[in-house]
Amino acid sequence: MGKIGGFLEISRVEAPERDPKARVADFQEFVETVEVAELRDQGARCMECGVPFCHNGCPLGNLIPDWNDLVYRDRWQEAIVQLHATNNFPEFTGRLCPAPCEAACVLEIREGDAVSIKQIEVSIVNRAWDEGWIQPQPPRVETGRTVAVIGAGPAGLAAAQQLRRAGHTVTVYERDESGGGLIRFGVPHFKIEKWVVERRLDQLKAEGVRFEYGVDVGVDISAEALRAAHDAVVIATGSRVPRDLPVPGRELDGVHYAMEYLYDRARCLEGNPPAAPITAAGKHVLVVGGGDTGADCVGHSHREGAASVTQIELLGEPPERRPDDLTPWPRWPVKLRTSYALKEGGVRDFAISTTKLTGNGSVEEVHWVQNSGKPPFEAVAGTEETRPAQLVLLAMGFLSPEQSLLEALGVERDARGNAKAGAYATSAPGVFAAGDARRGQSLIVWAINEGRQAARVADRYLRNLPARDPRDEESAGTSERFGSPDLGADPPNEASIS
Ligand code: SF4
Repeated sequence: MGKIGGFLEISRVEAPERDPKARVADFQEFVETVEVAELRDQGARCMECGVPFCHNGCPLGNLIPDWNDLVYRDRWQEAIVQLHATNNFPEFTGRLCPAPCEAACVLEIREGDAVSIKQIEVSIVNRAWDEGWIQPQPPRVETGRTVAVIGAGPAGLAAAQQLRRAGHTVTVYERDESGGGLIRFGVPHFKIEKWVVERRLDQLKAEGVRFEYGVDVGVDISAEALRAAHDAVVIATGSRVPRDLPVPGRELDGVHYAMEYLYDRARCLEGNPPAAPITAAGKHVLVVGGGDTGADCVGHSHREGAASVTQIELLGEPPERRPDDLTPWPRWPVKLRTSYALKEGGVRDFAISTTKLTGNGSVEEVHWVQNSGKPPFEAVAGTEETRPAQLVLLAMGFLSPEQSLLEALGVERDARGNAKAGAYATSAPGVFAAGDARRGQSLIVWAINEGRQAARVADRYLRNLPARDPRDEESAGTSERFGSPDLGADPPNEASIS
C-alpha cells in the first residue's frame, strides 16, 4: 500500500481553507481540496501497517488503505468503487465527518501526522461525480415488497438506497419540505452546499426511491395506516429532543434551541424564509455549548453580522495534546480543538455555568459563574459575571428521539428513550430502527453505517416473509430464486469510538 517509506519523505498536508476574514462575507463552502499530484503524494504516505487501525477507526469500516493505494497509483475509478463498497455518501462524510479514522491511523502515534484520509476520500468522490462515474443503480429484479423509511437524514437515505438496490419498493416519509435531514437544514451551506445533497437525492430518485415530503408520520398519516401500507418500516427519525437550559429567564424572547436558528437560516438561504426568522444581525449572541452545532451557530452569526459572539462550555478546558491516560491512541482523543467558526471570530470560555437570563420581555443579559470544570460543576465563589446577550442559542445536544412516534408504532424503548433495537429489529414485528433514533446522538458516519446495517436486517426479514397469496409467488420468498444481494459486512466494532 502506498509508497514504501513514503511517510518518511512526505509530510502531511492539511486541507486548505479560504481566508477566515474573507469567507464570512458569503455562504459558500470554505474547505478546498489539494491538487491531484499532491493528493497522490498524500496517498503514498500510507505505510502498509500490518493491522490498519484506520479501517477499524472508521465506523463504516471504509477500506482506507486500499483507496489510499489506488489514489497513489492514479487508479481513481477503482478507488470510487472501493469507497462506495462501504459508504453510500462519501461526499457527505468527506465534508462533515470528524475523521476518527485519522485519530486511529498508525502514523498518528506521532500526533498530528496521520495520513490525510478525509481529504483523499472527498477528492475521490468529487472526481467521480465530475467524471460521470457515479450513476443510478436501479435493481435488476423487483421483489414486490414495500418498505417505509421514516426520516430522510443520512441514516434514512442509506437504508432507502440499500433496500431499493435490493429490489424492494421504498418510500421515504419526511416531515420537512426536502431531504437530507440535518445535513440539509442543520449543517450550514458553508460546510456543505445544498446542491451536493440534491445531487445524491436525484440519484436515489433515479433508482426508484419515492419521497413523500411534508408528511409527518403520526400526524399526516397514522402509524397504523403506514404499517398497513408497507411490509416493513425503518425508523430513522434521528434524535431530536434537545437538551434544555432550566434557568430563570429561559422563557424570554430571543432564547432558542440551536436547531431552530440553523433551520431558519437554511430556509432563508434557500429562498423559503419563515414568517419571522430568528436572526443574529446586529445582536450580542451567546451560544451555550461547545460542540459542532454550537460552532455552526457561531459561523452563521458571523455571516449575519452579529455585534459580538460568545461561546461557552460547561466542561473545563481540555488539554492541548492527546491525554494518553484518558484517551490513548487509537481512541478518539479528548483534546482542545478550535472550530472553524472561532477562527473567523468570537470568543469562547470553558467551565461556565449559566445562572440566569434577564430582560424585559426579550433577553438582554446573561449571568454566569465559573465552575470547577467537571461534575458536579461546583461554582467558584467571586467569579459571577453579567454579559449582554440579545440572542441566546442552546446547543447542548439532544436527549432522545421524539417519543410519540415510537409509542404509536409500539416500539419498546431503552432507559434513554431510544428505540430498543439491539440488532436493528425493534420489539414490533417488521419495524426496524437505525441511526440516532436507535443509538442516540452521534456522528454522520455512524448514521450512514446504521442505515446500511438496518437495511441488511430488514432485507432478510422481507425475503423470509411468507407469500401473501398463491398468485403473489412472483413477489415473495425471493431470496432463493434471486439470491440475496450483498448488503455489506457486519457492523464494525462500535467500541472503537468513545
Ligand atoms: S467516513 Fe469518516 S472515519 Fe470513515 S474514512 Fe471517511 S473521514 Fe474517516
